[in-house]
Amino acid sequence: MLEAISPTENLAKEAIQTVVSDKTKSKVLERRTFAIISHPDSGKTTLTEKLLLYGGAINEAGAVRSRASQRKTQSDFMEMEKQRGISISSTVLTFDYSGFQINLLDTPGHADFGEDTYRTLSAADNALMLVDAGKGLEAQTRKLFEVCRLRGLPIYTFVNKMDRPAKGPVELVDEIEREMGLEVVPMVWPIGDGEDFKGVYDREARVVHLFERQGRKEKAAALDALPLSDPGLPKLLGSTLFAQLEEDVELLDALMPSLDVAKVMRGEQTPMFFGSAMSNFGVALFLNKFLAISEPPAPRETTAGSIGPEHPEFTGFVFKLQANLNPKHRDRVAYVRICSGKFEKGMKVSHSRLRGRQVNLAQASMLFGQDRETIEEAYPGDVVGLNNPGLFAIGDSIYTGPKTVRFPGIPSFSPEVFAYIFNPSAGKYKSFKKGIDELLEEGAVQLLYERNDEGKTSPILAAVGPLQLEVVSYRMKEEYGVETRLEPLTFTAARWSEATWEDIDRADAEGLIFGAMKCKDRWGRPVLLFRNDWKINQVVDEAPYLKLIPWAFAP
Ligand code: GDP
Repeated sequence: MLEAISPTENLAKEAIQTVVSDKTKSKVLERRTFAIISHPDSGKTTLTEKLLLYGGAINEAGAVRSRASQRKTQSDFMEMEKQRGISISSTVLTFDYSGFQINLLDTPGHADFGEDTYRTLSAADNALMLVDAGKGLEAQTRKLFEVCRLRGLPIYTFVNKMDRPAKGPVELVDEIEREMGLEVVPMVWPIGDGEDFKGVYDREARVVHLFERQGRKEKAAALDALPLSDPGLPKLLGSTLFAQLEEDVELLDALMPSLDVAKVMRGEQTPMFFGSAMSNFGVALFLNKFLAISEPPAPRETTAGSIGPEHPEFTGFVFKLQANLNPKHRDRVAYVRICSGKFEKGMKVSHSRLRGRQVNLAQASMLFGQDRETIEEAYPGDVVGLNNPGLFAIGDSIYTGPKTVRFPGIPSFSPEVFAYIFNPSAGKYKSFKKGIDELLEEGAVQLLYERNDEGKTSPILAAVGPLQLEVVSYRMKEEYGVETRLEPLTFTAARWSEATWEDIDRADAEGLIFGAMKCKDRWGRPVLLFRNDWKINQVVDEAPYLKLIPWAFAP
C-alpha cells in the first residue's frame, strides 16, 4: 500500500513564519478539510463510509448508514429523510489518518438542498467531485462545480462504480475537460470495467493494483501492486486488456499534462482517480495521493486583508445553522469554520455583525455525524458547533484582537418556488412565529412579504426546490406543533432590485413590470417575483435602472 507523506514533510513547503505557537503551526499542517460534490446516487454515502473506515473512525462498513438509521429513529425530522430515502442534513465528519486530521464536510445529496451544500462549500478547502462511471457528469455535479469554480477551490475527481459498465476513461476525461474547462491529470488509469474490471494502474509508481471483488466490507487489505513488467501480468489481466493498458500508458505519458500542484491549488487542474467505493477499491490510493498533493488551509480574503491560518489571532465564520438536532434538548447549533488561531473552550471573541460585541464561546462541540463531543480546543481548518441562543446568523464572523475582521458574506441561492404559508390556528401564533424565525435563521428557506401587506397577509416562503418547503411545514408540525398550510404561487424566479421603491413604482406605472409581484425580503429590500425568465430579460432590457440581481447578501 502507498505510504502517505507525513505532514512534517510538508513543513518545508509551508511558509508559516509567525508568532503562532509551534503547536498551532503543526496542527494547521495536519488539517485537510474537504467536501464531496456529486449527483445523487453516485456513491457519496458509500465513499464516505469507506473513507471513515481508513480513519478508524468507525470500524465496520455500513456504520454511517446504521448510525443514520439510529438517529433517524430519534428524530422526526430525520424520519422524513427515511420516508423519502433522502439525506437532508449535512454534517461534519472528522477522522485521523496517517498523521493528518481530515475534516469531511458532508453535504445533502438532493438537488433541492443545493443551497446547504453551497454554504458548506464555503467552509471547505478542497472539493472531491464524485462521478458515476456509467453516467459521466450529471446535473447536480455541474451546478456544484460552478460553485467550486467561483470559490477557486482545488478539485479532485473520483470516478466511481468501475465495477459496473462504464463510459470509456478517455471519454470521461474529455467530458470534464470540455465541459468544465479543467485540465485533467489521471493519477491512476482503469483497466477494463464492469465484469472485466481488473484494477487500476498507478501512473506515478508505475504499478498495477489488482481489483478483488471481495473485500467489500473490511478495510482494504494491503493492495497487490505489480510492476507493468511483471511477467504474470498479461495472464492476470488477459492479453487484450494488457495490450490495451500498454498502449494507454504510452499515450497517457505522451499526451497528458503532468501534475502541477500550483494549478491544482488554483482550481485549474484536477487530479483524477478511478475505483469502486462499494468494493473499497481505489479509495486508499485516492486518500494517500490527495494527502500528498493537497495543502493545509489556505488564506482567505477579509475586510482586514488576507488572513491565513498563521494569523496570530483567532478568526472564523458561521456557515450553517441548525435547530433541534436533538429534539429532546431543543438546541440550536451554529457551525463555525475556524480560519486562524486557536479555538479554546470558553474563549471570548468579538462578533462582527454586532459591532464587535464580546461573546463567550462556552459551549462548543466537535461533530461526528449527529453525535457531539465537547471539545476543548480546535485549529484552523476545523469546524466546531457552537451552542447558538440566537446570537449567530449565517455569514457572521467572529475574531479576537483589536482589528475588526469580516469574511465575505455567503449569498443565498435565488429561489425558484414560492408559497404562502398560513397558520390556521390563531392560538398557535407564538409557536408559528418562533418556528418560522428559527427555520429562517437556519437558512432552510427565505421569507418574503407582499410589499404593502406586511402583517396582513401571510408571509411567502421562497425556496430553491419544493422539498425545502415540505421540510418547513413538516418541521413546523413536528418541532413546533403548528399545522401550517402551504398555498403555492405560480412564480418561478425572484430578483432583488437595487433600485428605490420610487423607481420600481415608476416602472410599474409604465407597465414594465406587469405581472410581477412586488415583495420585500426580511430586511425590507425590494424583491420582484416573476413567472418566467423571458419576462425578466424583458425587464432587464426595458428598465435597466431597476438593477435586478438574482440574490442578495444578508446585510
Ligand atoms: P449517494 O446518493 O451518492 O450517497 O449514493 P450511495 O452511496 O447511497 O450509493 C448509491 C447506490 O450505488 C447504492 O446502491 C450503492 O450501493 C451503489 N454504489 C455505490 N458505490 C458503488 C460502486 O463502486 N459500485 C457499485 N456497483 N455500486 C455502488
